[in-house]
Amino acid sequence: MSIIVMKFGGTSISNLEKIKNISNRIKRELKKNKKVFVVVSAMGKTTDQLIKKFFVVKKDIFNAEYDSVISTGEQLSAGLLAAFLDENKISARSLLGWQIPIITDSFHGKARIIDIPTKFVKKLFKTYDVLVMSGFQGISKCNRITTLGRGGSDTSAVAIAAALKAEICEIYTDVEGIYTADPRKVKKAKKISQITYEEILEMSSLGSKVLEPRSVELAMKYDIKVHVRSSFNNKKGTIVLSEEENLEKALVTGISSSDEDAKITLIGIQDTPGVANKIFSPLASANINVDMIVQNITDDGRLTSLTFTVANSECEKAVKKLKLSDIKFNKIHIDKKISKVSIIGVGMRSHVGVAKKMFETLAKNNINIQVISTSEIKISVLISSGSKKIALNALHKVYGLDKSFD
Ligand code: ADP
Ligand code: ASP
Ligand code: MG
Repeated sequence: MSIIVMKFGGTSISNLEKIKNISNRIKRELKKNKKVFVVVSAMGKTTDQLIKKFFVVKKDIFNAEYDSVISTGEQLSAGLLAAFLDENKISARSLLGWQIPIITDSFHGKARIIDIPTKFVKKLFKTYDVLVMSGFQGISKCNRITTLGRGGSDTSAVAIAAALKAEICEIYTDVEGIYTADPRKVKKAKKISQITYEEILEMSSLGSKVLEPRSVELAMKYDIKVHVRSSFNNKKGTIVLSEEENLEKALVTGISSSDEDAKITLIGIQDTPGVANKIFSPLASANINVDMIVQNITDDGRLTSLTFTVANSECEKAVKKLKLSDIKFNKIHIDKKISKVSIIGVGMRSHVGVAKKMFETLAKNNINIQVISTSEIKISVLISSGSKKIALNALHKVYGLDKSFD
């Protein structure tokens, strides 16, 4: 039995016309004698509206009722699509996460998939040609509905593709594939025909929301072929594959940006061993993820300052933890008007001078770099958010990304 997984994001299933379009795509696959497993997101901006409604009552996303409320959008789209298919003589039924079951941990608001038994799905495929599952949701061992974090339907799709050993996982969205930068932010962004798991993992973790990072981790782990493509036309999109299979080794493959960080500076801390441990331990035990870190040079040999970034949404919690800890500092400074801009490419492994070009370009544009962090295949800089647009476009040009690959 050859199974294909097709995932449709919010904009691709936002009205009846689009449901019809999805059904035509499914029909085409059925003609090729395949079984189709569809994963759907909530229609349009439904999830945002559900979150707003929940927040009127309670502002806590790590809550079982939060998941119970915000997972409902996907139930509606799965039911509507299955009904439409059935009405058009295609044997289909809808499934909620718990009916599969998609078993997750109990970390509400951002649960991780633990297991997906496939017995029931395989049995259903003996009766139905198409199964339509609500993405984004699962069930915990405590028998509660969970959600996988914003954008989590991508993860549902890749996870089910891995469990069912599907031949491909197609991600249908509102752009034609993965671009060299967010096409909404960089006008000259170009579609990339192939990208490695590692590159898109870095890009998505650094702000390119076209794929949810966890979905890429799973695709990489289970070697799932992912095709990101438009739900509005039939053009070939972007294939995500392993580094060995990728023949296009651009020096810089893509540029990402994120406005979701806050910069915290502790001024006047002791410059002695163990201080960093004292600062980061209470943050780690509060589950606060620290990203970029820089320790500044000591002025007088005794006192120094330390700058680091955390997610904007966790900034207040982090500051509170630091103030309650026994770490001594003179002042704490918070800056939320910052953006992280990153260049990503596996070609960086074998080429020198990539960082120099980035810093030179930013300097030429009079953009001050506040913090730098690197990995083997990426360089990220923290800059003021007012300079983001100029930085993105200038870097896009200087690394030759304005030119089309196709
Ligand atoms: P869906 O609802 O289909 O899951 P998303 O909004 O989650 O869609 O992801 C698609 C969006 O990702 C695009 O509209 C685009 O603005 C954004 N995006 C950010 N970075 C990139 C990139 N490098 N390539 C393509 N799209 C990107
Ligand atoms: N509907 C959910 C969200 O908006 C999941 C998804 O679209 O992938 O985050
Ligand atoms: Mg998405």
